[in-house]
Amino acid sequence: MSEIINNYKKIINQIENYKKEFSRTSRNPELIAVSKTFSSDKIQIIIDEGQRIFGENKVQEAQKKWTKLKSTNKGIELHLLGPLQSNKIKPALEIFDVIQTIDREKVVVKIKKHLDLNVTEKKHKFFIQVNTGNEEQKSGVKINEVEEFLEWCTKKINLNINGLMCIPPVNEEPSIHFNILRELCDRLGLVHSSMGMTIDFKAAIQFGATYLRIGSGIFGPRS
Ligand SMILES: *Cc1c(COP(=O)(O)O)cnc(C)c1O
Repeated sequence: MSEIINNYKKIINQIENYKKEFSRTSRNPELIAVSKTFSSDKIQIIIDEGQRIFGENKVQEAQKKWTKLKSTNKGIELHLLGPLQSNKIKPALEIFDVIQTIDREKVVVKIKKHLDLNVTEKKHKFFIQVNTGNEEQKSGVKINEVEEFLEWCTKKINLNINGLMCIPPVNEEPSIHFNILRELCDRLGLVHSSMGMTIDFKAAIQFGATYLRIGSGIFGPRS
């Protein structure tokens, strides 16, 4: 248990140091603690340390853990980092504050419809997932289709998109992909770039991430 606190403090420290080291290009990223597969008890440990931004990959797992955690802890911002199925839109919008994995028209239409029918005070943020490696089986919009998809989301459907996210291919230098994502954000006028995980968050800070997604570096290895 105290190991999680130690890991957490170490990561926070490293982030602060890299922000200073790369002060010219860093965009002051915030830490998303990726808590997928970890129990509510473990999550509570770092909520008690002051962490408020978390990420999960699955709608059902998030509902199970975060309905309670959100009701007993104020100010939580929960990000969906895994694929969003079109039959899970309603529960996803209920439990999550930020959806990072928008990648096709069908889910955009359904999200918009749900938001129009359910007026809430919650102000969601939406990011488009970009397949920066143009990998065949990977989800995400291909680089050369992002601009058109973004235009369609914002102008045709009127869904506000706030940023882009990427997961670089495993065997490639991540900074190339982080650079592509940040330049794409700037060209398209998007504030947020979600990039960088436990193994590569240093480069993500250097290349201008606004959100880092760190799981095992805090909670330990996933079984
Ligand atoms: C699991 C996951 C992370 C966190 O990965 P770690 O290597 O544990 O830091 C980040 N982003 C996404 C999309 C993930 O699925």
